[in-house]
Amino acid sequence: MSKKLQHEKTGKRDTLAKRGFQPYLGTVQTPPRQVGDVPFGPEPGSGLDMTPDPNNKGIVRHKDCGAYTVVKRIAEQEGKPHEFVCFGCKQTVRHERILQYPGNPNHFELFGDESTAGPFSLYGILILKDVEAREAEAALSEFLEGATGIEGARLHCKEVFHESSRANTAFKDFTKEEIWEIAEQLIVKTRDFMPSYKIGAAHRNTYPQFVPGSNPQQKLTAEHLYPPAFMGAVALLKEDGLSHKDFSRRFRIDAQKNKLEFWGMGRAQVQTLLNEVNLKTEPVSVDKPILFDAIDIVLYAYGHLLLDKAESQEKKILEIAKPVVAQVTWRPDDEKRPYSIGKTEGIPALYPAT
Ligand SMILES: [Zn+2]
Repeated sequence: MSKKLQHEKTGKRDTLAKRGFQPYLGTVQTPPRQVGDVPFGPEPGSGLDMTPDPNNKGIVRHKDCGAYTVVKRIAEQEGKPHEFVCFGCKQTVRHERILQYPGNPNHFELFGDESTAGPFSLYGILILKDVEAREAEAALSEFLEGATGIEGARLHCKEVFHESSRANTAFKDFTKEEIWEIAEQLIVKTRDFMPSYKIGAAHRNTYPQFVPGSNPQQKLTAEHLYPPAFMGAVALLKEDGLSHKDFSRRFRIDAQKNKLEFWGMGRAQVQTLLNEVNLKTEPVSVDKPILFDAIDIVLYAYGHLLLDKAESQEKKILEIAKPVVAQVTWRPDDEKRPYSIGKTEGIPALYPAT
């Protein structure tokens, strides 16, 4: 019997989390946008990516700040210089010519993964455009198979960098240094497909030790802070304009089926909270696309940086990937930059954001 039918029979309603309610989860701080601080890899030709669609709209990526802007498409402008105001940095940007994009330029593929590093809960999102995502998937598989000599090889940092679990992976005969080298090459390869990496870092030290309102008291764990970290990464997506209604997205995330007690809403599956208006996620637990390995590597390297454990390998990887990071802290009294995912009306938020 389906869950829905059960509910109809018992009259039981979906949990608050399922219905889209969220309490205050934290305050997000995003870095100021800097022109010249290029978060993307090299662009194959400079120009505008325009949609050949009947609505005459197209998107333009400002390669200096990484933001996407929806612009009106005028047929006569093709091949000619074009000016627009960037959604991200608000600068007037001039492109020398308009290029046609081979795939659907309004479609993005997003991959979300979580990680823990000491007192930090991290959430990373890798973003690629339509065609690039498909091409990257094939190129990375081929690369990893070539590097390891094993068909279907995958690189999961948690497994391959620990002696005990490495024996069960395609990397059993590799040294740590060799694996770092392959991880770096994988990030270099991914760069060919113009990726963008966003990370939300939730600082557990700033949060209460126990889940607010829990009785008996329950310890607040790293997992509790995946949703706030996700919220941080999503805030960066929004700044890039990626939640715009004119774009379509497929947002796959690493499944988090564990149920935890969340303040203000009772028990909820962690993955239910890894969601956002216009950015509906799709939890994946088997046959994860290989692009999850790329975001996993970048998160792992960034975790080491936060813990002051990053060596030259991690630093090199971060230099290539150039992730943009939002910090998430528990500051109930801070009114400056409140972000709350989902709807907050209807429930008494424990700590209203305003
Ligand atoms: Zn810009």
